[in-house]
Amino acid sequence: MPECFLCGMETDALYTCKRCGERFCEECGDVEEHLCLFCLDDEAVDDEYDDEEHDDEDETDPDWG
Ligand SMILES: [Zn+2]
Ligand SMILES: [Zn+2]
Repeated sequence: MPECFLCGMETDALYTCKRCGERFCEECGDVEEHLCLFCLDDEAVDDEYDDEEHDDEDETDPDWG
């Protein structure tokens, strides 16, 4: 019996990931997209992080009155 490369569960219902080619069970990926959890994660990481450091500006309150 084949087993899922992620969780190791033995099952006949395995799906082959279209990206990495590993076989995963229905619990370990998107069976409709044919993507394992690893590759689903990869696809999700599309946004770039804004890692700029911002200096704290010292705003002085004007003295009203
Ligand atoms: Zn699994
Ligand atoms: Zn994969």
